[in-house]
Amino acid sequence: MKTDKNNLPNRTKIARQAIPFSRITENTRERVVVLVPGSQGKQYRVIVRRDDPRQKGLTVECHCLTGIGAVPCKGNGAGTLCKHGMTALLLMAMNKGKTISFCATPEDAKVTARMKKGLVARFKVWKKPAELWGVVA
Ligand SMILES: [Zn+2]
Repeated sequence: MKTDKNNLPNRTKIARQAIPFSRITENTRERVVVLVPGSQGKQYRVIVRRDDPRQKGLTVECHCLTGIGAVPCKGNGAGTLCKHGMTALLLMAMNKGKTISFCATPEDAKVTARMKKGLVARFKVWKKPAELWGVVA
């Protein structure tokens, strides 16, 4: 949704604040699983997949963990990636000594990549026509 993408700096800020409270519970060649806290004491499980080697980028799936099981995160796929997914990606980058600047469009990402001397990455929402761009530097 429009508001989400326009509010990217604010969403990045919130995503960043959750990093110290998040942890990676699985890290294999195919996927990384991260537990991320959300609002109202909720817990989210984010699965980041490197599932398509032809496309440079990662696919992000997010579920809210509830008493009755894992429920797909409402914010993930509403035109863009949810904050929990952004937290997971930031934490993964941080573990490699890198950071991600999120960008709403590939054009923004290209300009940012030149400025920061970084690499453009595409983050897709698992099984939904939504994505977010970023520069890893
Ligand atoms: Zn989410």
